[in-house]
Amino acid sequence: MGSENYEKMLKSAMEKLPKKNAEKKRFEMPRIVSFIQGNKTIIKNFSEILSALRRDKRHLSKFLFKQLATPGNVEGDMLVLQRKVQSSLLQKKLGDYIKEYVLCKVCGEPDTIVMKEDRITFMKCEACGARSPVMEI
Ligand SMILES: [Zn+2]
Repeated sequence: MGSENYEKMLKSAMEKLPKKNAEKKRFEMPRIVSFIQGNKTIIKNFSEILSALRRDKRHLSKFLFKQLATPGNVEGDMLVLQRKVQSSLLQKKLGDYIKEYVLCKVCGEPDTIVMKEDRITFMKCEACGARSPVMEI
């Protein structure tokens, strides 16, 4: 009589498996909320993006200043750029940043940290343990 229950248990356990895999959280690209004020561009949700990516504000702002060839500064939760930049371009640059500095180059998971060792910058993945060198900004 026990084996019937066991089979039932096994069957229900197997039915649960694919569902659990499908529910695995996928990385969602944060959306930049920006507006243009005079000759400046303001990224309103800059600190929100930083916490979603778990990255330092200096790292991402330095990347954006260089990529957009414009100076700027962090003001509270916002990033101010000293020229007009379309939000679609900002979103594209953020995508480039995520690809280079956030997603693991081996497994593609976003659970990574960026660290510097002997003047070389690495990305270390907490999911698979891989270490990949990344470009200096
Ligand atoms: Zn990995």
